[in-house]
Amino acid sequence: MITLAKLIIGKEEKEMILQVLDSGMLTQGEKVSRLERELADLCQVKHAVVTNSGTSALHTTLYSLGIQPGDEVITTPFTFISTTNAMLMMKAKPVFVDIDQCTFNIDSSKIEKAVNKKTKVIVAVNLYGQPADYLNINRIAKKYDLKVVEDAAQSINAVYKGKKSGSLANIGCFSFYATKNIMCGEGGALMTNNKDYAERAKRFRHHGQNEKIKYEYLDIGCNYRLTDIQAAIALAQLKRLDRITKKRREIAALYNQAFGNVKGLITPFVSPGCAHVYHQYTLRVTKDFKLSRDELKTYLGKRGIASGVYYPKPLYYYSHLRKYAPKGGCRRVEKVCQEVLSLPAHPLLTKLEVDYIINTILEI
Ligand SMILES: *Cc1c(COP(=O)(O)O)cnc(C)c1O
Repeated sequence: MITLAKLIIGKEEKEMILQVLDSGMLTQGEKVSRLERELADLCQVKHAVVTNSGTSALHTTLYSLGIQPGDEVITTPFTFISTTNAMLMMKAKPVFVDIDQCTFNIDSSKIEKAVNKKTKVIVAVNLYGQPADYLNINRIAKKYDLKVVEDAAQSINAVYKGKKSGSLANIGCFSFYATKNIMCGEGGALMTNNKDYAERAKRFRHHGQNEKIKYEYLDIGCNYRLTDIQAAIALAQLKRLDRITKKRREIAALYNQAFGNVKGLITPFVSPGCAHVYHQYTLRVTKDFKLSRDELKTYLGKRGIASGVYYPKPLYYYSHLRKYAPKGGCRRVEKVCQEVLSLPAHPLLTKLEVDYIINTILEI
């Protein structure tokens, strides 16, 4: 089976883990500090705070921004559940706005209509690895005094108008979950230029403890610390990041070339000024194609090719989110949920495997 994701674990990762084991210090320590410095360097921001998942990074972010119960957060319903659950954990209200069907990201032209007195934050998601429209999003935020969060779980190393993903909003959040572009099993990070946010985040990550005085707790907190074992893996992965990104783009280019003129298949659109990192290479399979999306998925599966539907339904279809469904729904999200299909694009794919995937689809 050609899988959708495949982990790269080489001798660099193993050596780094052994260093930590030999040091006898397994919790948050030197490797975590180094990972924070390297991530901040990568994104050219002042502060990085690593956490034990992307979800905990998002939760911590909303805490750092001072979100209060009942505050409203504008976001997209076409993302992983975690984006919205972080809001619910802060007792904030998600307000769903439809997407742009070319980029799959929040349609920034529809955000302003969703703003009211309770709105505090906009959480945009860089779906599949392409940054959302931050020029417009940040402009709206400035006009209404809102904060902006970049859910960059899928977009590390992507670029938007010359700036790295992670640095495009007040706070950017990464995930290092096993299948993300770089990983450490489970892990996350939040990126910011704001010292106060970074300090609040570090406190929240560690039970709300005063950074300088042990057992002095200033507020509620969690245990969201990353271990040095995980940080060691992430540091080794970070060294591979440019090669991984390049390989994913090369695979995407081969798919684009092969499927660009196939009736009924829509290849990913890349916005001007954006550099996509193809966490997912996602086609839209429209009614003009010979098979439906689900038929194509089954067909590929039978021929040993895994494919994925990200995501099968808008978040407001899930029972705990139904009460946040916007009036009339998000028409475009509902449509693309029926059409999207992600093909394997991980960097360990061989040319032979990519050709096999391409030919299998072209034969249809
Ligand atoms: C993976 C992901 C997250 C959550 O990250 P975890 O590390 O799995 O907690 C959040 N948002 C998006 C868009 C993701 O893809």
